[in-house]
Amino acid sequence: MNPQEIVSFEPATGAILWRGAIGDVDAEVDIARGAWAEWASRPLTVRIETMRRFGNVVRSRLNEFADRIARETGKPLWEARTEVEAVIDKVDISVSAHNERTAHRRLEGALGVRNALRHKPHGVLAVLGPYNFPAHLPNGHIVPALIAGNAVILKPSEKTPATAEMLVECYYAAGVPEGVVRLLVGGPAQGKALAAHDGIDGLLFTGSAPTGLALSRLYAERIDRILALELGGNNPIVLWNPTDIHAAAVVIAQSAFTSAGQRCTAARRLIVEDGKQDAVLAELGKIVDRIIVGGPHDEPQPFMGPVIDNRAADLLQESFLGLMMKGGKPFRRLDRPVDDRPFLTPAIIDVTDVPDRPDVELFGPILQVIRVPSFEDAMIEANKTRYGLSASLIGGAPSLYDRFWANIRAGVVNWNRPTNGASSNAPFGGVGFSGNHRPGAYYAADYCAYPVASSETEQARASIGIGLRDP
Ligand code: NAD
Repeated sequence: MNPQEIVSFEPATGAILWRGAIGDVDAEVDIARGAWAEWASRPLTVRIETMRRFGNVVRSRLNEFADRIARETGKPLWEARTEVEAVIDKVDISVSAHNERTAHRRLEGALGVRNALRHKPHGVLAVLGPYNFPAHLPNGHIVPALIAGNAVILKPSEKTPATAEMLVECYYAAGVPEGVVRLLVGGPAQGKALAAHDGIDGLLFTGSAPTGLALSRLYAERIDRILALELGGNNPIVLWNPTDIHAAAVVIAQSAFTSAGQRCTAARRLIVEDGKQDAVLAELGKIVDRIIVGGPHDEPQPFMGPVIDNRAADLLQESFLGLMMKGGKPFRRLDRPVDDRPFLTPAIIDVTDVPDRPDVELFGPILQVIRVPSFEDAMIEANKTRYGLSASLIGGAPSLYDRFWANIRAGVVNWNRPTNGASSNAPFGGVGFSGNHRPGAYYAADYCAYPVASSETEQARASIGIGLRDP
């Protein structure tokens, strides 16, 4: 393979989908720097109108866009369509969020003095994206950043450049100047070089906690820059006295296996009351055995596609074996039904007897079951992670949910709903190693601009009433 290019393969078939030259970090930063001031000086209404046109462009290319995402990530076509719809919906959400969070405000002032709160864009923002939502997640930073008046350099995952290319084409087709959104094709080396570049004013990152930590270290002395980190999770479901066993099992399956488990909010751990798990596990097993794993365009449509590549599938299989070797008891194995392709079957393993369970994010379709004697122990177990992204209680009375809500450490806390069901009209982010307290989604506006407080009057009128000698 040419070391100067990035090649994107379709996970389901191994076919080459896209290839392109690795970008030049310095050149992209120069172009964006040259363009942002003019963009920032356009009236807000013009920037918002451009974003609305962007939504329309994406809508007009919905099928083509979904096909590209499905091919490049392997996710089923139905799911890729929901990702494109999320890209479109982001425009209205970002406009409302901008108005609510960062709109200009007149404040009370005395004696004709005008006090104002306004927001300014940072300048040039780098956006580093992951592969699991290659359009929706970068777009979730880019739309609010553009509305605020920033220029953006998008360095997508090296596994999903083709989707990023289409996204950027749509900004251009809507009238965003080419200097204002730049596509930097590359891998971790380009991500690192961009993050460290003196010509950017901030970094909006969505990806894994190890990369987030590396960026955090890199930024330890860069207090002059905004760094927003949206990272992974080791998310728990606590299952307690469910009234409807079937519905509980469905919510668990949706939490753990949607997107083949490649969601930052996917449930990784199922914490159950010891001795009462059999009925729910039996029901979960029945659902899991019915889950269709297949290619993105298969008919009938699968529930799960492959994971992103063979390397990811190998690592997941190694992790699953590792849990088994430490005493984990598989309830459903992690099988690889197609030789040489990264399809994995949904897996469930009881790890109650595994000592020192590793607190890592297994980014795939593996659910670990932990049995505990009491609800107190369930809470301790649920919080036994350095992450804190999402968590659900399934079952339980309202008073139990109150206890759960009060004691769990996570940025998304749900009741009888999947761990991955977060509203895009709400802020999204986690605590612990899941982020750095710069939540995205509805609060993305906050990290795309900085507040400026002004005290203003057209004529200087001033006197010093105390502490002066007589003239
Ligand atoms: P990743 O951390 O491997 O890569 C993310 C991006 O960072 C890619 O563009 C990559 O090229 C770049 N990169 C990698 N190493 C780098 C370095 N040292 N310096 C600078 N850039 C570097 O993540 P991934 O595997 O692509 O995505 C999956 C991860 O993303 C999971 O951990 C998942 O939980 C997380 N995720 C989080 C959210 C969220 O909103 N919290 C959403 C989706 C995915």
